[in-house]
Amino acid sequence: MARDAGPKAPDPELSTRLRSLPSVEELAARLVESHGAAHGLAVLAARDAIAARREAIASGSATGAEGIDEDAEGRLAAASRRRLRRVVNATGVIVHTNLGRAPLPDAAISALGEVARGYSNLEYDIEAGGRGSRHALLEGLLCELTGAEAALVVNNCAAAVLLAAAALAEGRDLVVSRGQLVEIGGSFRIPEVVAHSGARLVEVGTTNRTRLADYGRALGPDTGAILRAHQSNFRTVGFVEEVEIEALCELAAGAGVPVIDDLGSGALAERVPELAEEPPVRRSVTAGCAVSCFSGDKLLGGPQGGVMVGTAAAIDRCRSHPLARALRIDKLSLAALESTLLLYRDPATAAREIPVLRMLTAGDAELRARAGAMRDRIAAARIEARVIDATAKVGGGALPLLELEGPVCAVDPAPLGLDELARRLRGSDPPVIARAREGWLLLDPRTLDDEEAGLAAAAVVGAAG
Ligand SMILES: *Cc1c(COP(=O)(O)O)cnc(C)c1O
Repeated sequence: MARDAGPKAPDPELSTRLRSLPSVEELAARLVESHGAAHGLAVLAARDAIAARREAIASGSATGAEGIDEDAEGRLAAASRRRLRRVVNATGVIVHTNLGRAPLPDAAISALGEVARGYSNLEYDIEAGGRGSRHALLEGLLCELTGAEAALVVNNCAAAVLLAAAALAEGRDLVVSRGQLVEIGGSFRIPEVVAHSGARLVEVGTTNRTRLADYGRALGPDTGAILRAHQSNFRTVGFVEEVEIEALCELAAGAGVPVIDDLGSGALAERVPELAEEPPVRRSVTAGCAVSCFSGDKLLGGPQGGVMVGTAAAIDRCRSHPLARALRIDKLSLAALESTLLLYRDPATAAREIPVLRMLTAGDAELRARAGAMRDRIAAARIEARVIDATAKVGGGALPLLELEGPVCAVDPAPLGLDELARRLRGSDPPVIARAREGWLLLDPRTLDDEEAGLAAAAVVGAAG
């Protein structure tokens, strides 16, 4: 609608329209009445709805109060919704850092529920009837699974590396290969972590080649430790050389220097071919690393946590460092981690019960059946969909070269267009996150269970309707 361009005289029509709007109190009272909303929240929703409507009237895109209750209700619903929500991960990226990494095994979910609901022996020694330590709870199990003498669990792997560096090399030299001065993502950079630990970074070798002799020359009376960091999320190829962990530990042992191994994901599962490129935890322990650090929620498939396993002396220094308290793990994660680790006692149970391992090793028939079910449901709504072959990624900054081949359900986004279809899927409840390839929207059955595959297909049908 046209508006006067001339000097601003009060526009009587505009004033009438603005006056037709309810007051914030009136609208809020209706929300409280009809939705049982908390008064404060209702006022905020009403205020936002009225402000938006005033602007719309002023700009000519609305003429009055029509539909303002619905608008306020929508705002109230949005504000009432939890901000941390379940999403359906149809991307095929198994350890998706933006989507909460590893979904937990059922056993872990029930353990954390049980511990959350009531009291627990978190720091209580039931047998002795007195104070116990949270650090003692998982130590035996971790030693059993990795062959280490001692173990400690902190908040995440970044915390584990920070603590190990501080406990073993604070005020002294920490020797690292230039090829391992890596950034893992989320601003976790090895040089910065070392700096914050209070250790002095001593770089050896070059980006592509570091030899044992490079380490040898750097060791001296000021050396606190050697740090080895796994190139989790990238690979160097061509003219490259790295020192094997066994040789590094042998050199360090001769000089009386501890080795810290930042494994990142840390492979605990044995005989899983997809994990062949990940450094096994047991290998680091056997080689003689003082402390090996790995994440709880990457390929291990448990909750967030930083596991440290190693020699009794080194783990003891970590446990008694002041940072250990600041970086400690909470009881819910501890409960979930213990249950996840227990599954590793039997490799077949681990592969079956731990979702990350299950998705990693999912068979073609299972994936094809799930992709087909999505295709059928979508195609039944007269939307073009087909099962095609694609590749999925592990994610979580692990196994960057591994391509997991498998069938996916590809959806033709016409007439909405890819961006709009993806936007509508994100707007469904729960939000569905998919990926695009060559103009098609892909729903990857690898990261969906049957129920989620149903939700994803229904979301596509709903978005198109
Ligand atoms: C992922 C990763 C970390 C950080 O682990 P969080 O559990 O996310 O803190 C540290 N080091 C390496 C090599 C990693 O891959």
